[in-house]
Amino acid sequence: MEGEKGLLIVLSGPSGVGKGTVRKAIFEQRDIKFEYSISVTSRKMRPGEVDGVDYFFKTREEFESMIKNDELLEYTEYVGNYYGTPVDYVQKTLNEGKDVFLEIEVEGAKQVRNKFPDGLFIFLIPPSLSELENRIKTRGTETDELIRNRMTVAKNELKMMNLYDYVVENDKVDNAVEKIKAIVVAEHCRRNRV
Ligand code: 5GP
Repeated sequence: MEGEKGLLIVLSGPSGVGKGTVRKAIFEQRDIKFEYSISVTSRKMRPGEVDGVDYFFKTREEFESMIKNDELLEYTEYVGNYYGTPVDYVQKTLNEGKDVFLEIEVEGAKQVRNKFPDGLFIFLIPPSLSELENRIKTRGTETDELIRNRMTVAKNELKMMNLYDYVVENDKVDNAVEKIKAIVVAEHCRRNRV
């Protein structure tokens, strides 16, 4: 996706890490030049959410017909609901030379990586993961079942990290936002498209 086309930016990470909060904080900033791709979902609208702003809310049947008609760049079923990225908007916006930002869970991000190997993939991690990593390495004395379970989760999360270009620790939302903005600038410089 070089030349005249925009950059596809994918923010993902483990469940509960705060991807949505970080994404909202990014788009509250005035100097953001990328476009947010609004996802489609079959989950129920939450209070305060607006159709066509937070998501395009669809029935399961409507979502399934979008799958059949190849209208989605990626999709997944997460906690009993469908979530997906409309492919037309992404293609059209990239073709206009604008950057597109996706905030999606890890399974969907994997699908996008296969279709857009040159996208910019950013993995958000909770600050406790590095602490956990240190514990695993130093083989501390508190090796009870809970820690083993957490190690397993951490290992799985670490495996997913290999698919990503950058890892950002979400210690504070503002810090994560600044890092993500800096990564996008650096990526443009790297690709010689400032
Ligand atoms: P929520 O229901 O809390 O809005 O979102 C649940 C999860 O779905 C979050 O991890 C969010 O990142 C993810 N998600 C939102 N939109 C999409 C999408 O289009 N595709 C995929 N794969 N995940 C999504």
